[in-house]
Order: sequence, then C-alpha cells, then structure tokens
Amino acid sequence: MDSFHKLSLEEKADAQKPKKPINVFSIDLQSVATGKKCNDRSPAYICVIGEDNSTIYETFIKPDRRVVSYTEPYTGIKSSDLDDAPTMSEVTAKLKAYFGNHPTIVGQDNNFGHTIELMTSLGFEKEKDYKYIAISEWFKLYQGSRGGKYPYLYFTLDVQLRALLNKPLSRGLGSKGRAYMNLYNAYKDKDVTDFESAKQKCYSMRGYLRKGHKEVPFSELHPTYEGVCQGRIPPGQRTATCPCGTRKW
Ligand SMILES: [Zn+2]
Repeated sequence: MDSFHKLSLEEKADAQKPKKPINVFSIDLQSVATGKKCNDRSPAYICVIGEDNSTIYETFIKPDRRVVSYTEPYTGIKSSDLDDAPTMSEVTAKLKAYFGNHPTIVGQDNNFGHTIELMTSLGFEKEKDYKYIAISEWFKLYQGSRGGKYPYLYFTLDVQLRALLNKPLSRGLGSKGRAYMNLYNAYKDKDVTDFESAKQKCYSMRGYLRKGHKEVPFSELHPTYEGVCQGRIPPGQRTATCPCGTRKW
C-alpha cells in the first residue's frame, strides 16, 4: 500500500513538471539538380524531426533556379510537388522559431554541406549557436595502419541502421532524418562497452552487405541521370573523378 501511494505521488509530481522543450533535432534535406554537375543542387524538401521523433516541420521548397532534373527515382520529388511550394527564404523565416536557443542538430557525418548552409542562413554559427552531432563519429572503428591514409573506418547510415536497430534505411522523404534520431536516441545514454560492441556489429554488417546482400546505390546504377552527374566514380572505371570531374579521390 505504501509503495503504491509513494509511486502515485511521484507520478503526480512528474505530471506537474513542465514538459521538457525539444532542443535536439535532425534535419532531412533533399535536393534537386539545377545544373549538370554533382554540386549543382538546390534544396527542394526539408523535414525537421524532434527528439521524440515527431515531425516538427515538413515542406517542399521551390528552388530559385531552373530545375534540370528532379532525379525522382532517388529523391522521391516530383515536379508537381514544387508547384505551390514556398521559397527557401519563406521556409527559413519559419524555421528559426522552431530551433529556439542553442539547438543540437543530429546528422550522419561531419560533411553536412546543405545543413551547415541552412543553419548559417538562419544566422546560427556552428559551436557558438548550435551543437552538431555526427552519428558516424560515434561508431567509427579504429583500424590503425590497416586503413592506410584513413585510420578510421566509417559506416554508412544503412549499415548502422541494419546493424544496430535491425532495419534497413527506407527510401521515403524524411526517412533519413528519422534514422539519425533513432540512432541518437538508442545510443545517447550508452557506455563505452556498448559502443565497442556496436562498432563490431557495424563491421560485421558491412562485411555481410559487401557479399552481395546490398541494394546497389542509385549513383552506382546511374553515374549520370538525365545528364546530371551523381558524384561517384562509374563502376569498373579506373578514373579518380566523378563523371563531371568535380569530385576527386
Ligand atoms: Zn560530378
């Protein structure tokens, strides 16, 4: 009886606490091509996911330049989706209010071009005004001299999801944003041992997928699509650049 009473008081107190404001977000940006080179892209869709996995904000965006390719099989964006969409400046005006003061943004890796551009356009400076967490940094595996120039082995979002949450990355709009947040929530309170075991799981999953159990990436099937470079070395070629020459390895 006593313990029941105590519990219900705690529950009451809990209910009276102000709901913690959401301060951790992930952003899913999808771009369409506005030129033939792999860096000619303009954001055409944005989805902001909150720490509780709710969709805080989601909209298509009308690019301010002419669209060369929607790359629909990859982006899931159709021409008609953008007909009545707001412009990027209309979108940024709304976005700032959602982020509040000093948000934390969760993403896959440190090479997060469009996200940093977006945050800069909102007047947020990295470290000073917001914190950025790259999930791939959490699970990178130290491989020492085996890695040659690259001491760390980084895993893709798909590998991390399959290995750690037992589900593949789905293709729908917004699914990457949800995937970052799911991984963040699953590991934000874990300890060193959990991370060591997670890295090994990712390593095994990477090996498994490399043995032909993997969906071939769009850019590998189509090094160029509707004349637009997809930013990857065409399979079987001994070049060190993507078809348009912008990316070098
Ligand atoms: Zn290219």
